Amino acid sequence: MRNCTQFYIDGRWTDPVTPATADVINPATEQVSGVISLGSEADVDLAVKAARCAFGSWSQSSVAERLDLLRAIQAGYAARMQELGEAVTEEMGAPLSLGTGFHVGLGAGHLQTAIEVLETFRFEEQKGPTLLVREPIGVCGLITPWNWPLNQVTVKVFPALATGCTTVLKPPQLAPYSAQILAEILDKAGVPAGVFNMVQGKGSVIGAALSRHPDVDMISFTGSEPVGVQISKDAADTVKRVGLELGGKSAWVILDDDQLAANVAAATSGMMVNAGQTCSAGSRLLVPNARLAEALAAARSAAETVTVGDPLSDVAMGPVVSKAQWNVVQDYIAKGLDEGAELIAGGLGRPEGIDRGYFCKPTVFRGTNDMVIAREEIFGPVLVIIGYDDMDDAVAIANDSPFGLGGYVSGQDRDTAIAIARRMRTGAIWVNGGFDFHAPFGGYKRSGNGREWGEHGFAEYLEVKSIIG
Ligand code: NAP
Ligand code: MG
Repeated sequence: MRNCTQFYIDGRWTDPVTPATADVINPATEQVSGVISLGSEADVDLAVKAARCAFGSWSQSSVAERLDLLRAIQAGYAARMQELGEAVTEEMGAPLSLGTGFHVGLGAGHLQTAIEVLETFRFEEQKGPTLLVREPIGVCGLITPWNWPLNQVTVKVFPALATGCTTVLKPPQLAPYSAQILAEILDKAGVPAGVFNMVQGKGSVIGAALSRHPDVDMISFTGSEPVGVQISKDAADTVKRVGLELGGKSAWVILDDDQLAANVAAATSGMMVNAGQTCSAGSRLLVPNARLAEALAAARSAAETVTVGDPLSDVAMGPVVSKAQWNVVQDYIAKGLDEGAELIAGGLGRPEGIDRGYFCKPTVFRGTNDMVIAREEIFGPVLVIIGYDDMDDAVAIANDSPFGLGGYVSGQDRDTAIAIARRMRTGAIWVNGGFDFHAPFGGYKRSGNGREWGEHGFAEYLEVKSIIG
C-alpha cells in the first residue's frame, strides 16, 4: 500500500489543513493500491504563499545555480527510474516495460532537454535601441492528467524551474504515485523551499482554487477540453496566462505504395500503445480507397496480435486507467456499432479469458469521418479506418476535425509526405516515425494554445520586457 497523505509545501512534507483521503485503485486488479490526501483551498493558499515568497530570490537566481539544481535532480531521477516506472504501472496500468521504458524515458528526456536549453538560452538580447529581457512570469499552477503522468509533470516542472518560476503542482487523483516520487527527488536534490510545491486532491477543488487564485500568475494545464475551458473562465477574472494542452483526434495518412500493409500494421499497433490513452494518438487511419481491403486485413491482423493482460507480465497492452474510462470506451464501441461502422477487430467487453481489471479489446472499425467515433476523442484502444480517394481528399479528411494536435504520414515518397504534412492543420506531424525532444508540442484549434517541449516550452513561462533607450 502506498501512502501519499502529505503535501510538499515550503520545502517540507506537510499534513493537510483538514484531513480527508481517497483510495487509489490499481486498474489491473481493481484493488486499492494506496491512499492520497484530498487537499482543500486552505492547502492551496499555503502552497501559493510559499511559492510567492520563494519567487523573489528564485527569479533572481543565476543560470549556473539553476543548472546545478537540475543536474542534482537528474542524478536523483536516474537513481529511482525503476521505482518511477513501477509507480506508473501501478497507478495507470501501463505494461511494466512501457512504464520503466518510455514513460520514465520521457521524464528523463524533458529534464535533459531543459538542461540543454538552459545552457544556451538567451534571456536578454539587444534589438536596435531596445534591450529585450525575458523574465520568469511568476507563480505557476501546474495541473496534469493521468495518461502519461511523468511526461506531463516533467514537461511543465523543469522548464518552469529552469526559467526561474516557482510552482504549485496538482497531480491527477488517479495517478499520484509517480508525482510523489518526483517530489521526493526534488526535495532530496535541494530545491529551495517554496520553489516547488505539490498539493494532491480533486481537480474541482485544488485545480479550481489555483485557477482563481489572485497570487498565481499562470496556469499550465494538460487534460480534457471541457476542463481547459473551465480553467480559462476561472482564470479570466485575474487575467492569468493559461497554457492549454488538450485532446486530439489525429489523422495518420498511409500513402499508396508497396509498404502500405506494413505501415498500416505499425499504425494499428501504435494506436494500442498505452491502451490508446495518448492525446496525440493516430486514432483516424486514412488509407487509399483503392487498397482498402488490403489495409483492413493488415489492421485486423495487427490488432489481433496485440497481447493484453497483467501489466506486470510481458504484454503489449494493459488496462485503461479506471472503471469510468472503461465505460467511456465501451460506450464509444457501442456507438460505432450503432452508427453502422464495420467492426474489423475487437469489440465490446473484456478480452477472452480476462474477468477482472479495466481491460479493453484492441478494436478497429472501418467508418466515415462524420461518425461520432471519428469526431470525438475516445481515449482508448479504438482505431477508425477511413478511405480516401486522392491526396486532396486525404488532407481534407485529416483537417475535417475540431482538433489539431498531432498527425502522421507514412510512405516512401518523402516529398509527398512532407507536402501533406505542410497542409495538415495540426501542431506536430511525425513523418515515418521521427522523434525529437526539442520539437515544440501543442495544438491548433480545440487541441489547445500552448507549445511545450524544448525552447518553446521555456517561452510559456517567460514574460517579455522591453527596456528602450
Ligand atoms: P481532465 O479530466 O481534464 O483532468 C486533467 C487534470 O485537471 C486532472 O488533474 C484533474 O483533476 C484536473 N481538473 C479536473 N477538473 C478541474 C477543474 N474544474 N479545474 C482545474 N483542474 C481540474 O483530463 P483527464 O481525464 O485526466 O485526461 C485525459 C484528457 O487529457 C484527454 O482529453 C487527453 O487528450 C488530454 N491530454 C492532452 C495532452 C496534450 O498534451 N495535449 C496530453 C495528455 C492528455 P482530477 O485528478 O480530480 O481529475
Ligand atoms: Mg477526468
